[in-house]
Parts: sequence; structure tokens; C-alpha cells
Amino acid sequence: PKPRVRKPEWLKISLHAGNGYQEIKSMMRGRQLHTVCEEAKCPNIFECWSRRTATFMILGRICTRACRFCAVNSGQPTELDLEEPRHVAQSVNEMGLAHVVITSVARDDLIDHGATMFAATIVAVRLENPLTSIEVLIPDLGGDKNRLAVVLEAKPDVLNHNLETVSRLSDKVRAKAKYVRSLSVLRMAKELRPSQTTKSGLMVGLGEEKEELIEAMRDLREAGCDILTIGQYLQPTSKHMDVVRYYHPTEFEVLKQEGLALGFAHVEAGPLVRSSYHAREQAERAKAA
Ligand code: SF4
Ligand code: SF4
Repeated sequence: PKPRVRKPEWLKISLHAGNGYQEIKSMMRGRQLHTVCEEAKCPNIFECWSRRTATFMILGRICTRACRFCAVNSGQPTELDLEEPRHVAQSVNEMGLAHVVITSVARDDLIDHGATMFAATIVAVRLENPLTSIEVLIPDLGGDKNRLAVVLEAKPDVLNHNLETVSRLSDKVRAKAKYVRSLSVLRMAKELRPSQTTKSGLMVGLGEEKEELIEAMRDLREAGCDILTIGQYLQPTSKHMDVVRYYHPTEFEVLKQEGLALGFAHVEAGPLVRSSYHAREQAERAKAA
């Protein structure tokens, strides 16, 4: 077998549960809620839930794509629950969330790629939770402007779409996505709704070069992207892509500074940073910028 890159110390975090976490956990018990936080066994769950942020997955658990870094099951989806927007809205209310992130699998099987359900979920969540800020982390919707317009008409506080990796590695890491298509989704969002805060994320450790990362950041800025997250890729199972390298925390700090110099309103970078980590603080800072 191939020698493995060893996991460094800074990724072995100590878990401690704050009060907010315990409260939410007990509310969730016995309910049919799909949070990415729990299902992906996200290492940030204690911190995020204590800060009243969580990520919901809508449109089922089976993805029509099969990106090589992602732990979600792929196949032919069957689920389309028209009650889902209402259920998410109620859950956000019961969890008392200050910020909610709504994401989904890619639903290339649906005519609208799920855009209508995203819009309906935003509307339902806002109706029941007028003070909660709403972020959607959307698939590329096939790069279709009309589908994107449907989501934007519901006025999410933040529209997030991840670029994930640098141009050279894109086809290998996420075969059914396209680097330029992801950039075009972000660009179109600004065209359709100039006041829309946009956001994207990159993973590091897949074999990219520093210059390629800077180029990706520059491309994102050219597409008008406001907020950037950069985190370490961690291999979910041995069947997924290998980690080529673990970045040191100081390297994340350097990348953050590069990003700020390129003009992002906010950059969140660190070994455990995920798209939705510190999402509320990011949204607030981008708004103030
Ligand atoms: Fe949930 Fe995202 Fe926080 Fe992880 S980083 S616990 S997925 S909100
Ligand atoms: Fe995972 Fe999203 Fe890729 Fe589907 S499209 S495999 S959910 S990263």
C-alpha cells in the first residue's frame, strides 16, 4: 500500500460541548431532521451549534453527481418532499438559529435542478424566522440563469457556490462540474441581483500549487465574489481522493492575507474551515464592509 500522509496535530481537536449544543441536540432527538453538521460528522458541530448556526440538507440524500472528495451517496435520487420547506422552517425556529445554511445534493434529474425548492425553503424559513439570516449553498444548477434567478428572487442573505479547487484539478476532483461554469454562477448572481452578497469556497491539500490558488482567488474576485472560505481537504473514506498535503495553520494565514489583498470583503481560512464555518460572522462582516 501507498504510504499515507500523516495527520498533523492541529487537526486533532478537543471536543467540548457548550450549552447551546446540548439544547439543540435535545430538540433534535426523535425528529426527522437532516443537518449536514450531524450527517457529515463535522468537527465544528459543538462550536457552530453553540453559536446557533447549522446547515440543513434539502432535496434528499442521494446526489446525481459523484465528486471524488465528497461523502454524500450518489445514484438516482427519488426524494422530493413538498413539505420540506415547512419542516426546515419549523426546525430553524425550534433550534433558535441566528444563521441557517441551506444546501442540497445536485439534482440534475429535476427540470429546475431544485431551484424552486431552494426558493420555497428561503421563503418559508423567513416567514417563520424573520430575524434569522439565510445562506444558501447551491449546486451549479447546470449554469442556467433562469434557475438561478428563481433562487435569487427569494432574496437569500448570502448566495454561496463552491469552486472547490483550482482550474487544473477541477475535472479530476468533480467530474460533472466545470470550473468556468461555477465562476459563471457567481458572476450571473451579481448581474441578476447586484446587491446580492456572494460567497465561495476552496479546499487545499489536493495537489494544487500556491500560484494556482492565487489564480483561483483572482478568478473569484473577477466574478464579483465577496466572501471566501479556504479549508483543508480531509479524506472521508479510503475510497476518496488521497490528501496530498496538510497545510500548516500559518499557510492558511498567508492565504487569508492574499485573499484580503485581492479585495474579498471577508476570508475565513484554516485547517477546519468548512463552507458554513463562522457563516454568520462572515455574513455580518461582508455586510458591514
Ligand atoms: Fe454544521 Fe457547517 Fe458548522 Fe460543520 S461548519 S457544524 S456543517 S454549520
Ligand atoms: Fe457531493 Fe455536491 Fe459533488 Fe454531490 S455535487 S457529490 S453533494 S460535492
